[in-house]
Amino acid sequence: MLPIHAAVVVAGGGAAGFMAAISAAEAGVGDIALLEATSEPLHKVLISGGGRCNVTHACWDPRALVGHYPRGGQALRGPFSRFAPSDAVAWFDDHGLELVEESDGRLFPRSNRSESVAATLRRAALQAGVQLHTGVSLQQAAVAAVGGFDLLLRGGGAIRADRLVLATGSHPSGRQLAAGLGHGLVPPVPSLFTLALAGDPLLELAGVVMDPVELALHLPREPQAVRAAQPFRQRGPVLITHWGLSGPATLRLTAFAARALKVSGYRGELRLDWSGGLSQQALEGLFAEAKRDQAKRQLANWRPWPTLSRRLWLALLQRNGLDPQQRWADLAKRHQQLLVAALRDTRLAITGRGPFGEEFVTAGGIPLGEVNLATMESRQQPGLYLVGELLDVDGVTGGFNFQHCWSSGWLAGQALAA
Ligand SMILES: Cc1cc2nc3c(=O)[nH]c(=O)nc-3n(C[C@H](O)[C@H](O)[C@H](O)COP(=O)(O)OP(=O)(O)OC[C@H]3O[C@@H](n4cnc5c(N)ncnc54)[C@H](O)[C@@H]3O)c2cc1C
Repeated sequence: MLPIHAAVVVAGGGAAGFMAAISAAEAGVGDIALLEATSEPLHKVLISGGGRCNVTHACWDPRALVGHYPRGGQALRGPFSRFAPSDAVAWFDDHGLELVEESDGRLFPRSNRSESVAATLRRAALQAGVQLHTGVSLQQAAVAAVGGFDLLLRGGGAIRADRLVLATGSHPSGRQLAAGLGHGLVPPVPSLFTLALAGDPLLELAGVVMDPVELALHLPREPQAVRAAQPFRQRGPVLITHWGLSGPATLRLTAFAARALKVSGYRGELRLDWSGGLSQQALEGLFAEAKRDQAKRQLANWRPWPTLSRRLWLALLQRNGLDPQQRWADLAKRHQQLLVAALRDTRLAITGRGPFGEEFVTAGGIPLGEVNLATMESRQQPGLYLVGELLDVDGVTGGFNFQHCWSSGWLAGQALAA
């Protein structure tokens, strides 16, 4: 049964909404109604991290942590100092869920199943007395003359709430509700996506992973403001796919260049340094070594450095007109130069966004300047709190997006109880 009055209504049963409701309830606030529009709360938690849920990242220093947020950045130092990844790890541990760190710093539940993260949140909400209402969508929110908010629900029904938390993620309804309560909007654009390439130039190499690769993105048709930020560069693992490029370095690149890519219609040139940034001299040194020490070997059977993918090496040989059976000793200077150039500077035309990504998030949302980042309370409307992806904050892949949900949700919960 839906209440007609609640001390706190949280709209949105995702990571941020659950964290806000639970931490407020555990800090002593009674009478909290958590409204979720769909029949499946925590849907994104369940599908996240390939079904494993990358809960947070082992980046313990807030000064370093903020570098992983293309939108948010330095402004998040305060919130992350108050509720850091170490606090998230401890919070889940206190609630019966152990997180395990992988070699790249990502933290997952020991079970390796996102269901255990969702179950932990659902159980904590229940135990703290949060009333969860699924299939209930908040349609309108108006400031009540006597204080608090008059809330109208889709399909009928109304609730009077003393305080309101909007945790609606990237859904447009939350932005409209916030606009109705006096908030502006940084226009939403996609972030964290893969890249499609013109003519599938790497199709035969689908499945190849190279690490590290240096990527530089050049977007020619930018307005001056964006041109000034160019080129966008990243270094790290790249995965060649059936449609183009994916992998952590590609996703980081598209996150930092999200707005610029949108402006340029997702068209531009990507320059790849497969050597990960070796100087021309260093690469030539590797070739000279191979010619001297592996003189009798065929090109196909010896690569300039061991982690260079064999498939990529063979493709580069073929594209540059070289016979893979040729011996290293017979590699002409002219051909060596072609190979060094291809390894250091492969240029590919981008034609759009790729169809899949490990993780999609929205850049844009409610401007951070309109929120008190110590409490997540709106500066436009007292009693209103904004948390999670609804805000103009997004992180790169690696658990950073959930971390912002835990931090902002927890801060709102504490402020509601204060
Ligand atoms: C495929 C995928 C994988 C991901 N994997 C990871 C990962 O491993 N690690 C990571 O850090 N991030 C990951 N992310 C990003 C992460 O899922 C989001 O950043 C995060 O879920 C945002 O949480 P939120 O609570 O702000 O919003 P959401 O999770 O979107 O929750 C908002 C909720 O509000 C509800 N809602 C909307 N409007 C209303 C309304 N008017 N009334 C009531 N309810 C409403 C929605 O139905 C939804 O349930 C992934 C994203 C995707 C798409």
